[in-house]
Amino acid sequence: MLRVFQTTIIKPLTFNGIGLHSGRNSRVKILPGVEDSGIIFKRVDLKNNNLIKANYTNVSSAKLCTTLENNHGVKVATVEHLLAALYIADIDNAIIEIDSDEVPIMDGSAREFLKLLKKAGLINQKKKRKYLKIINKIKFKDGKREIFIEPSNSCLEVNFHLDYENKIIGKQHNTVNFHKDKLEDVFNSRTFCLFEDIEKIKKIGLAKGGSLENAVVVNGDKILNDSGLRNDKEFVNHKILDLAGDFLLSGYRILGKVTCHQGGHELTNLFLRKMFRENLSFKVIELEDFFASNQVKLKQSHKLAANA
Ligand SMILES: [Zn+2]
Repeated sequence: MLRVFQTTIIKPLTFNGIGLHSGRNSRVKILPGVEDSGIIFKRVDLKNNNLIKANYTNVSSAKLCTTLENNHGVKVATVEHLLAALYIADIDNAIIEIDSDEVPIMDGSAREFLKLLKKAGLINQKKKRKYLKIINKIKFKDGKREIFIEPSNSCLEVNFHLDYENKIIGKQHNTVNFHKDKLEDVFNSRTFCLFEDIEKIKKIGLAKGGSLENAVVVNGDKILNDSGLRNDKEFVNHKILDLAGDFLLSGYRILGKVTCHQGGHELTNLFLRKMFRENLSFKVIELEDFFASNQVKLKQSHKLAANA
């Protein structure tokens, strides 16, 4: 279903938990947002300059997680799974109050966020939602990593290829249509890492909150988590989840098909920057017909330059 109008949540929701990288406990409260505001993080532990818009231009680091930073150097890290949950829950506008610099990792997936968002309920707002419709293929390559997007009337289809030397992860491939498919395997899929990388990550001061409770850890041909995997393609499905969260940072729902080889947060961000910089192969539209898909009559609402 393609939604005509913008949405927000009906009731506020709260949760707490530890940050994957900081290891610190934090409390989060999500509140309804006004039309056209998008997703805004608010660092309630700080008095001044504490708003951080969830936008690709505010991504200051995307190495192991996506970190947003405003013009005053105020940051919030590991936003991607919560953003992916907002994408899947179909929420456009929300204020996310947080009392630390990292979103709790919960179980490493978006499952807990989705449960809470479902309970909070969703309401249509008066203004129409803006979609980014891809007109021509847009491509970005960085060494062996590649990402491109092609026209489609689906509201985000993702075709992801993962290629690890590790035998358990190996070559995984999946295609998920966020518009039509059931998404349980995507939002249930947890973040993962190789056992041999844990020390390296900890040495740079990260993953202090990491454990088998919030990440799948692969050691050689073994999965260290007692209960194993949640689905056959959990690794690639988690990468698809990350991609959806990172694409919400475009500020739009996307009518397009993304293909990604060996990508991650950084490649997605570089791609979004290129796409908006070149400002050619897409247009921003509203939907005239609620139930439209392939036959939808699309109306160009305004030129992107006004939004970029
Ligand atoms: Zn992730």
